[in-house]
Amino acid sequence: MKVLVLNAGSSSQKSCLYDLSSEVLPEVPPHPLWEAEIDWTYQQGQAELKVKTAAGTSKKSFPSQSRRADTLEMLKTLWSGETQVIEHPQEIDIVGHRVVHGGDEYQQSTLVTPKLKEAIARLSTFAPIHNPANLQGIEAIEDILGNVPQVAVFDTAFHSQLPPAAYTYPIPYELLQKGIRRYGFHGISHEYCAHRAAKILDCNLKELRLITCHLGNGCSLAAIRNGHSINTTMGFTPLEGLMMGSRSGSIDPGILLHLLRNCNYTVDELDHLLNRDSGLLGISGVSNDLRQITAAIDRGNPQAQLALDIYIHRLRSCIASMLPSIGGLDAIIFTAGMGENSALIRSAACEGFGFLGWKIDRHKNESAPLDADIATSDSTVRILVIHTQEDWAIAQACWQQQIKN
Ligand code: AMP
Repeated sequence: MKVLVLNAGSSSQKSCLYDLSSEVLPEVPPHPLWEAEIDWTYQQGQAELKVKTAAGTSKKSFPSQSRRADTLEMLKTLWSGETQVIEHPQEIDIVGHRVVHGGDEYQQSTLVTPKLKEAIARLSTFAPIHNPANLQGIEAIEDILGNVPQVAVFDTAFHSQLPPAAYTYPIPYELLQKGIRRYGFHGISHEYCAHRAAKILDCNLKELRLITCHLGNGCSLAAIRNGHSINTTMGFTPLEGLMMGSRSGSIDPGILLHLLRNCNYTVDELDHLLNRDSGLLGISGVSNDLRQITAAIDRGNPQAQLALDIYIHRLRSCIASMLPSIGGLDAIIFTAGMGENSALIRSAACEGFGFLGWKIDRHKNESAPLDADIATSDSTVRILVIHTQEDWAIAQACWQQQIKN
């Protein structure tokens, strides 16, 4: 069974093709047959396309026409040119899409229908960059493959069991009825990591109390009990919660009122300030990338040090805020760019909980762990590093959908 996955970001489009047996899913994620990515940030008006297969890699740039047309260009490399891995587009059995916002209506992976497309378009008001990009990916596939089954896998779905006290903002109740509530994001990653953690620990997920820390360019935590997310740090938008690469995370909303009222900020300027000019970048003035921040700290840059200190302070505070809802903890999981690669972030986060007996094995932490437990044997919680595989999680959802039918 050939499963194509499309994962649309704000300025990139990633995609991969898996070849799966229709009998059973592999325990360990297999390597895709073909992986591709378009990057629209590379040069104004240009799209940069990278493709990787077992035969090698290719890279080219071309004038960007539209997201939909560029995506078609990317998909053509599946059946033509040096990266060809299939004879005809019709060999693709099913296509899965990461869709950022499913609102409170879509609580699980769903087959794409005209009604679902309307809902994704309607929910674009809540995810103005991502949902339209997701829809364009769906339409690009319709252009080439007609009515091949397509599955939408929602980033919000894993958080659909948040209790009302966790999802409701303390603002007038009418706004809740207008959809202004906490939804949570990164759900595909949090859910994948929870399942993988249960495998690594050889336990039933329903019996585990977990905190998953997705620390990439965007950062969020989920508190998981009975296999569901019951608390999370992102909210109505992916701006709430932890400090991030260039996003502020939670700040006093009074600051926004002040900037609007007294400093002549426009709404677009505020948007830019909070999403692009804040976080590690905004404080350090160096970069949104942790590697650049630590290099600047080594050169004695005090603002870079402050950025890291705030990041750790807020990470610890948010981890602590997850604990009461799950009534204890069996394992904490670090994933995504910083969570998977930074021994410093993992040890600093856990150090704050040394008084509760959380203990990292220094040697394991520093030897590039992957899908591994890095806690000491006498630690009161297991501390795991898991490579998040959102594309594989989407492919699994497609496989299940195909088997059902
Ligand atoms: P992601 O959004 O998951 O791709 O994560 C991207 C972020 O991960 C980058 O901006 C870096 O801050 C961080 N990152 C990636 N590799 C490393 C590394 N080796 N050490 C520290 N941070 C890293």
